[in-house]
Amino acid sequence: MSRRTFIKLSALAGATVAASRIFSHPALGSVVYSPELPDGEGVITEKWVPTSCLNCTTRCATRVRVVNGRAVKVTGNPLSRVSEGENCPRANVGLQVLYDPVRITTPLKRTNPTKGRGIDPGWTEISWEQALNEVGDKLKNLREKGQPERLLLLSGLNTVSAEDIIHRFADAYGTPNVVSADGLDNEADKAGEWMADGHYTQSAYDLERTNYILSFGASILESYEPLARSLRMWGKIRRERPIRAKVVVIDPRYSITALRADRWVPINPGTDGALALAIANVIISEGLYDADFIKNWTFGFDEYKKLAIDYYDPETVSAMTGIPAETIRQIAREFAGTRPAIAWRGRGATSWPNGSYTSYAIFCLNALVGSIDIPGGVTYQENPEYRLMPEFAEDDTASKGRAKPALDLRKTNLFPAAEVVTNQVADSILENKPYPVEMAMGFNSNFNMSAPGAGRWDEALGKVPCYVHAAPFISEMAEYADIFLPLTTFMEEWAYDHSPPGSGFAEARIKQPVVEPLYDTKSNIDIIFNIAGRLGGTVEQSFAGIGNGAEGYVKYRTAGLASWEKLLEQGVWVGPDYEYYKYDRIFHTPSGKFEFRSGNLEALLKEQGEEVNSLTGLPYYREVEFLGNNDDYPLLLSTYQPLLNVENGSQNYPWAQEMYLVMHGAGWTNFIEINRRTARSLQIKDGDTVWVESPFNKIKAKARVFEGIHPGLVSIASGQGHHAYGEWAKGIGVNPNEIIGVDYDRLSGQSALFNTRVRVYKA
Ligand code: SF4
Repeated sequence: MSRRTFIKLSALAGATVAASRIFSHPALGSVVYSPELPDGEGVITEKWVPTSCLNCTTRCATRVRVVNGRAVKVTGNPLSRVSEGENCPRANVGLQVLYDPVRITTPLKRTNPTKGRGIDPGWTEISWEQALNEVGDKLKNLREKGQPERLLLLSGLNTVSAEDIIHRFADAYGTPNVVSADGLDNEADKAGEWMADGHYTQSAYDLERTNYILSFGASILESYEPLARSLRMWGKIRRERPIRAKVVVIDPRYSITALRADRWVPINPGTDGALALAIANVIISEGLYDADFIKNWTFGFDEYKKLAIDYYDPETVSAMTGIPAETIRQIAREFAGTRPAIAWRGRGATSWPNGSYTSYAIFCLNALVGSIDIPGGVTYQENPEYRLMPEFAEDDTASKGRAKPALDLRKTNLFPAAEVVTNQVADSILENKPYPVEMAMGFNSNFNMSAPGAGRWDEALGKVPCYVHAAPFISEMAEYADIFLPLTTFMEEWAYDHSPPGSGFAEARIKQPVVEPLYDTKSNIDIIFNIAGRLGGTVEQSFAGIGNGAEGYVKYRTAGLASWEKLLEQGVWVGPDYEYYKYDRIFHTPSGKFEFRSGNLEALLKEQGEEVNSLTGLPYYREVEFLGNNDDYPLLLSTYQPLLNVENGSQNYPWAQEMYLVMHGAGWTNFIEINRRTARSLQIKDGDTVWVESPFNKIKAKARVFEGIHPGLVSIASGQGHHAYGEWAKGIGVNPNEIIGVDYDRLSGQSALFNTRVRVYKA
């Protein structure tokens, strides 16, 4: 079917249903209507099924309208307090995920032993029995050799329930190697909070009650999750109450969030940490801080004060950031004087080599104005208490395997605070360090597209003796598989879910099939239960009594929340109201207080034999080291995630492609955004085809001359440039990860995404 025909048919299906207008809109549940059509053409059966979305990790509660067995519409669930019944524009793309014509309908086996980009794997169809037998045999063999750690599990965008089961399988099998995508863009954010209060997490911001938001590179309205909640709360605090919250956005690029804010303050790339300290300088020197909170609930204030006052006065920092000193003073006074206020850190500020320290410096601003665990400040996310599973059964093989160092080198001298270092894994595979990988399994992952230095993942997966990929589609990563296991999409499966930090209070969602699986596919939870059964012994025992498959497992885990019938009918469970001011128990630090000098970090580094000096535990700013020299590569490259970048790794969705770059009114492409002044100096005109070349690689793209970008920076939207998937994704736009260098925030191991230098010239 051609793209045009598909769009027409989809639109026609929607229009036909909408035009009939003969059904009331049920508030809840799977109510079924079977009225006769007036013209007697037949009977239409309609139902609304509560479930949840998985086009990003917000995992919103939704309801799907199903007409005559076909899903035709997605809306929010009004019982969700997190999103207040709303969802984001990307939710409806779930229909095109479900009905994507390039979905794989049966297990596949590779016949061509040669692997590489663009090389035909020579797929042949096999039965589930054969596929799972072969996977089971290989896993069994590795355990029998006493090398379970040589199994690598790669996890992309999955439900919370699938992530839980993948980890249980890894523990029971005996591998420390579960690697998620978090190490690509979330970890520096988390490490910064951990340094201050001992919580290795992203912050929850009480957006609903705040009066002032100071965003450091946070893409609140496009990609920061929980997105649907942020969109809803944004409307509430800007239009629906007497006091309109003010928003100031610090960003070298004019983003959608900057466009909707009260003030956009462009900044020299990579200098957000210095700005945060200059704001602290003004707040402290003018006595604008919350003296009670500082006195009673913080540690290390005097050293932090000395750091900010001695080194980060607005004039000095103005020269670093390019922001006038008077603007820095205005922002500081406004932030401290408009309470409650939030200092919000995003990947634009933290995806740099010293990102953890920048995250820490920004987070400390919240403590300065007392915005910790108060209404309208930073809160501590509560999660649903799923029913505990019994301890997994462990044999000698599993305990020895789990004790081996992890392939991503987390918690070593290289990445001391890291919980996952996603991009390191490609190099570990290539160098056989700390040991060779014998087998890998990917679950909805696509690091060959989404990780910087993407080509290294091609080489690495080409080297793994047995690679199994589970997903609904053939992605760039799946092209390296020896066995491909076709997954159900999120509208066909059972799961439980919740959002990343944002609401404060807990909320769980039940994902239930809105339609029967369209093809011979299985969910990743069912696959793992099945494989565990084939392995026998302690691995099989670890999966006994917890449900025997996806539906039973979800029922088991959610048993303490509400009755199964109620969960299915309502689709959500909402926990009690959030409790603020828990200062006597929320700080997990050596002092039991919020720490401006991080005892957690100092203790960790000492434990690892590292030297700790008077600066180590403070949120100081260090100038960024760039990849590439300034003479040959005079510009910096950044990326951003547009709202219509569907996070399951595919972009084979016409609705999303059609409005991919909202800011530019363009779809089916991405651009290299370049400032008008810079473009003129390079004799580049809007629409020209140009090369963007880094020290590592080069790509060809269309130039978009754009006032809203720092003259020293160029930017490319991520999510395009696929060389796999279907005709609506393949060959459209470019993938900036092909030219970004490999570098890390040292403490957290997060990829440093924005410190690669490039040159741009006409093709
Ligand atoms: S925010 Fe994410 S999970 Fe929620 S509707 Fe949008 S894409 Fe789906």
